[in-house]
Amino acid sequence: MKLILILSLLYITTFSHAQSPAKNVVIITIDGTRWQEIFKGADSTLLHSIDCVKDTSLMLQQYWHTDEAERRRRLLPFFWQVIAQDGELLGNRALGNNVNVANLYKISYPGYSEIFTGYADKLFIPNLAVNNPRMNILQWLNNHPEYHGKVAAFCSWRVFPFILNEKNGELPVNAGYESVDGIDSTSDVINDVQNGIFEKNNTRHDMLTFECAKNYLVQHHPRVLYIGFGETDEFAHHHQYDTYLQKIHQADAMIAELWYYLQTDSYYKNNTTVIITTDHGRGGKKSNWNAHGFWVKGSGQTWMALLGSGIPAAGESNKNNQAYQKQLAATVATLLGVQFTTKHHIGKPLAVDSAKEIKTVCANSPAIVSR
Ligand SMILES: [Zn+2]
Repeated sequence: MKLILILSLLYITTFSHAQSPAKNVVIITIDGTRWQEIFKGADSTLLHSIDCVKDTSLMLQQYWHTDEAERRRRLLPFFWQVIAQDGELLGNRALGNNVNVANLYKISYPGYSEIFTGYADKLFIPNLAVNNPRMNILQWLNNHPEYHGKVAAFCSWRVFPFILNEKNGELPVNAGYESVDGIDSTSDVINDVQNGIFEKNNTRHDMLTFECAKNYLVQHHPRVLYIGFGETDEFAHHHQYDTYLQKIHQADAMIAELWYYLQTDSYYKNNTTVIITTDHGRGGKKSNWNAHGFWVKGSGQTWMALLGSGIPAAGESNKNNQAYQKQLAATVATLLGVQFTTKHHIGKPLAVDSAKEIKTVCANSPAIVSR
């Protein structure tokens, strides 16, 4: 009884001013996308650099503006026109609001493991096809009677079935250029396109990952869905700042399309939360923006965007605060009204900022940016 009371109080404290709890959660990650691009838009020095941008004048036309608010809106219109109005954005370090990975390594496998297991493992697993010994929130939910068969993951990077332990359970993880199972015509088209791709790298095109996920969403209505985009990190490693920006912009557009679907589908409308984040940051300088890892300063700096049920319309957080990626697993559980427990210690759920009043969601709400 005492425990129930404490848990109820914790829930009320954490989400006291929030909208109604979520029935469904969609988690999206955009691999290795820096907080600098999310909050400041395209970087002037890099945009002007012919080392990493092929057509600097066209890139400037698309993504540059002297006003920071307008600049970031050009890169991420959905983030700054919708999430900033109706949801919450964490990680603008210029405002003292910090988000970091808690793991030491600042590369993808440990980063995703931290997000989904809620634990910053000291055990180093490199970016290889090695099974994760830790239980993660997706696997745990899929083992839960209420969510069994209603959890799915679609990822661009082919290592995800190992990070999320597909082998050790029944959690379906479609990753890399793996075919989709559906017997509908969209699944046929997706499989035909995938089979026709001659050079299959470790990371599938994000648009294909998105189409796989969206088709599954429409056909099966999962309660918990994970979409892992990966091309941003690939192009950053290849020193292609122009394509890195285009991929961020493309991810924003796909998330906008997804949100529109969720908010116009009777199963998901007004009872679904979308959480968007990344697995690590990158270097903060012209010399190391492309890199990340233990030795790269700033590459542990991340961000989070939250929208939908249970999330107050607090906008861009300016609260002096430090959050960690390891808090997301418990946040997902709390949003769904369950408690994620496993053998390892789990980061506590995020205290979603309720300092500002919940704004009334209005279809024609004006953009917050100044022009
Ligand atoms: Zn990387």
